[in-house]
Amino acid sequence: MNVTSVKYDHWHVELDDDGIVWLGLDVADKSVNVLATAVLHELAGISKNLCDAPPVGVVLYSRKSRGFIFGADINEFEAFTSEDDVKAHIDETLETFQRIDDLPCPTVALIDGVALGGGCELALGFDVIIGVDDPAVQIGFPEVNLGLLPGYGGTGRMFKRAGLSTALNMVLYGKSLNARDAQSCNIIDILVNNNSDLKPEAVKVIKAYKGCEFPDPLIDDPADLIAAETAKIEARFNENNTPAPFEILRLFAMKSPNQARLIASESHIFARLMMGRASRGLRRVFALNDAVKKQGRGKSDVTHIHVIGAGVMGGDIAAVAAMSGFTVTLQDINAAAIETAVKRAHSLYDRRLKSPDMAAMAKNRLHVDPTGTGLHDADLLIEAVAENLDLKQKIFADAETKMKTGAIMATNTSAIPIEDIGAVLKKPERLIGMHFFNPVPVLPLVEIVHTEASDADAIKRAMCVSGAMKKLPIGCKSSPGFMVNRALLPYLFAAIDAVIDGENADMIDQALVEFGMPMGPIELADQIGLDVCHDAGLVLGMSETSKSRLQALINAGTIGRKTGQGFYQWDDKKAIRPRASYDADALHAIALRLLSPLVAECRTAVAEGVVTSRDMADAAMLFGVGFAPHTGGPLFWADDNPALVTV
Ligand code: NAD
Repeated sequence: MNVTSVKYDHWHVELDDDGIVWLGLDVADKSVNVLATAVLHELAGISKNLCDAPPVGVVLYSRKSRGFIFGADINEFEAFTSEDDVKAHIDETLETFQRIDDLPCPTVALIDGVALGGGCELALGFDVIIGVDDPAVQIGFPEVNLGLLPGYGGTGRMFKRAGLSTALNMVLYGKSLNARDAQSCNIIDILVNNNSDLKPEAVKVIKAYKGCEFPDPLIDDPADLIAAETAKIEARFNENNTPAPFEILRLFAMKSPNQARLIASESHIFARLMMGRASRGLRRVFALNDAVKKQGRGKSDVTHIHVIGAGVMGGDIAAVAAMSGFTVTLQDINAAAIETAVKRAHSLYDRRLKSPDMAAMAKNRLHVDPTGTGLHDADLLIEAVAENLDLKQKIFADAETKMKTGAIMATNTSAIPIEDIGAVLKKPERLIGMHFFNPVPVLPLVEIVHTEASDADAIKRAMCVSGAMKKLPIGCKSSPGFMVNRALLPYLFAAIDAVIDGENADMIDQALVEFGMPMGPIELADQIGLDVCHDAGLVLGMSETSKSRLQALINAGTIGRKTGQGFYQWDDKKAIRPRASYDADALHAIALRLLSPLVAECRTAVAEGVVTSRDMADAAMLFGVGFAPHTGGPLFWADDNPALVTV
């Protein structure tokens, strides 16, 4: 085949003997394709050339081995300083995509992997989409997770191609579809079995093309659909914190929607959301997630993990480790505890893993080991027995005599200084902290705690093990409460003291839920257990008043969820809370007051070098306790709330 080709920085354009233009994307200096501004500029020029001299057909494909197009380059979003700036960028891109959409010749997009965000929007501008039937294919609009909606015409084009229900679902929830689901929703027109079938199929399609027609995009009663989705979104989100889903619903609720009208409104909303506080915060969460994830990247030599203590934490740490491919031996003095932990692990695998085979393999990797024989072969020990210094010291002193040279020893202690536990060891540098958060299968943070003596290599390896467990590891200096509990406890005590002094617990919890926390501090204290709060307070510090008040509650058996009564009465896993409505300003004032000590502790922890930066302090609070994500983290939020500094 004779071809004439032009090489741009990011695009490779070839005209073949049949008069078909092959538009290949290989974004320079990136491992995956993203639609950076420079890539879009080149595409603008190419699309003008195609308009001026339309070929027989145009085929868009990726020249990367990994995926199609992962979306826009979101790092570039941070350079926008005004809505007008955003609009100018969007308008130029919309023109390019529209030019492609309007080409008089047949156009085909070949999707062989990830087609998310802008990647999906670009593909939707092509007449025919051919996809490969492969699990690597993901099609979707994740923008809502960044507090946005698609901005390059995605709402309108998806509406036209797949109809209101699919478009609304994809834009509103940000979940991606696999190739088969995308075909059944009319997004992919043709599925082929292998990557090598994509191009021949494109040629066939172009040669036989007679135009394309999409079904009526409107379902029988759009109003019913919008109303049902609105009810769901209102139950989950507060529009002040999370405006994007509400904007999306209003967009799709427009009278007589069509592609052009949706796109015109979409771009205004996109610009407004992009400059808003919530998207700024959520984009920061995304960037922090990426940065922390990188800390856990890399291969470590750890393949076998021995866990001592099969309770709430140890059981779940073992479960997640085996689910992630490690061989795990699980030890406990109590056989019933191991049995319960294994049952919980099996149910986790059945829920989370894609196939019964994968679940069976994970089950086979988790070994019951009541006598601790696994300790001799393990590359890493994670200790999660009760929070008691003597007990932990005994366990590590014994482990040191049995474990291989070079094996890492880690404790999941919440508050006991690592130095104190390591004091009994011949080589205390082997001991580090790996502090997981409850519930382990849900909360991604692991604080990787080092002392002055800790072996740097053990820390790096523990980071990689956490990464392999799909966790987010953050390095912390050994100090009371490490990062998260140090900041969380003063906030909990401020709330507990306020309630004991007569403030309304429901109102306090409502204030923090409205602020965006996953639950209020009083419900959280009940959930953790007032006994555990009291013990943590002894280590981290609490006022004498808090101490005696908590002790009185504990003596009365009102410990929280585990006794069915704390500040609230509990119905199994649910606190019975009135959830009354309160004045918004009063709620805001409560949130500011109670979060002040948390912010102050984050600041001192950064100043004392407990974590390496304020970014890491924010990341720890976001990923360890689910601190209101739209804020971008407590310190980022505090920058915009100077009132906090003086409280
Ligand atoms: P737990 O009481 O649920 O489990 C402790 C387990 O250790 C029990 O099953 C017990 O039988 C076992 N055990 C006791 N002595 C043992 C021994 N000599 N050998 C083997 N097993 C022994 O406790 P947990 O909540 O899982 O906490 C474990 C550790 O994790 C503590 O240090 C705690 O501070 C820390 N932690 C707890 C949480 C939490 O929310 N529960 C969160 C982070 C860290």
